[in-house]
Amino acid sequence: VERDDDTHYFHSYEENDIHEIMLKDTVRTVSYARFILSNPQVFKDAIVMDVGCGTGILSMLAAKAGAKHVYAIEASGLAVKARANIKKNGFENIITVIQGKVEDIQLPVKEVDVIVSEWMGYMLLYESMLDSVLVARDRFLSASGLMAPSQTRLVISAITGDRTWKERISFWPSVYGFDLSEMQLPAFEEGLTEVVDRDEVVTSEAVVRDINSHNATIKSLDFHSSFTLSSTSSSEVQIKAFLTHFDTFFSPISGGAFHTSLDEDVEILPFRDDEYEHPVQSLSSKGKEGEGVKVSFTTGPRGKYTHWKQVVFLLRKHITLRSNEKIEGRFYCRKSENNSRELDVEIHYRVVGEKEKEGSYEVQCYKV
Ligand code: SAH
Repeated sequence: VERDDDTHYFHSYEENDIHEIMLKDTVRTVSYARFILSNPQVFKDAIVMDVGCGTGILSMLAAKAGAKHVYAIEASGLAVKARANIKKNGFENIITVIQGKVEDIQLPVKEVDVIVSEWMGYMLLYESMLDSVLVARDRFLSASGLMAPSQTRLVISAITGDRTWKERISFWPSVYGFDLSEMQLPAFEEGLTEVVDRDEVVTSEAVVRDINSHNATIKSLDFHSSFTLSSTSSSEVQIKAFLTHFDTFFSPISGGAFHTSLDEDVEILPFRDDEYEHPVQSLSSKGKEGEGVKVSFTTGPRGKYTHWKQVVFLLRKHITLRSNEKIEGRFYCRKSENNSRELDVEIHYRVVGEKEKEGSYEVQCYKV
C-alpha cells in the first residue's frame, strides 16, 4: 500500500478554525500585507502565484496591489470558499483559483513573476510545505522572478525552561494524591509548542538553518548543523531546555538583500491588535526611493506573540552553565520516515569551559 501523507494534512486545512487563527495572527498577516501593498514596483502588472491560498487573503492583497493576474492554488476543499471570497470582493476577473496540489496543476501561462506563499510550520519546517513551494518555483517562476518570503532562518538558544518543566514534568508525580510520573515521558520525546518568556533565555542565539527561497533545494531541508551558545548570564544558570524559533524576511529584489549576519536583527514590529482590519494603515515607510520596502518578522521570545509560538526541547539531564562557559552542539533535523510531514530532531551537546575540560556529548531525540 502506498503511504498517504496528504489526505489528513489537506483535511486539516478544511476547518475554519485554522484559517481564523492564521488571519488573526497580525504579526504574520500584516507582514505579508505590508510587503505586498508597499511594493507596487513588484506587484503592479505582475503575474503572481499564491501557493496554498487558503481563504484567498494573499491573492486578494496581490490583486489590490495591482497584479495583472493571480493564480491562487489550493489543494484542500477550502478552494471553494476562496473562490467565493474572491468573487464577493470583486476580484474574480483578476484571480483564478485552481484546486489541486501545486505539484500537479497546469497553468494557462508559461511562467509567473512572483510566488507568494505562507508555508511556514511549527519549527519552520513542520508540514514540509516548503517542499511544495520549491517545486512551484522550479516549475513556474521566471528566471528573474521573486519569491516572497525570500529568506527564513531557524534559530536555537538555551533556556531555564522553568515554566515548561513545572507544567509538563513536575505536575505528574503528585496528581490528586497519585504518582502519575509514567506520564512524563512524551514531554522528553517531543518538541513542545509553547510561549516562552524572554527572561528564560540565558544564552546567545545561533542560526541552525538559513534558507534562501530562491536557491534552496528539497534535499537541503534535511540537515545538520553545529552551533555554539554562550552564557548571557553573569551567574551560574540551570538549563532545562533548548528553544527554537524562526525569523522570516521579505525582500523586493530578487536574489538581493540576503541577510547573512545575526547582527542584522529582525524588526520587532509594534502591531496594533486590530491591525488585520486596516493593514494599509501600517505601511512601512522604511524603503528608500526605488529600492522598495523590506519586511521581516520574528517568532522568537523577544517578539510579539504569533500562533507559531516557540518550540521547547526539554532535557533529561540539566546543564549547569557558568557565565564563562559555552554550549557546543549539533542540531540534526530530517523528515520522519513514517510521515514526511513530521520531523525527527536530534540535539547533541556538551559544555565547554575555560579549562577546556571537554566532556562527551549528550544526545537527545525528539519528534516534531
Ligand atoms: N495563504 C493562506 C493560507 C496559508 S496555510 C493564508 O496566508 O492565510 C497553507 C495552505 O496551503 C493550506 O490551505 C493548505 O491546504 C495549502 N497547501 C499546502 N500544500 C499545498 C500544495 N502542495 N498545493 C496546494 N496547496 C497546498
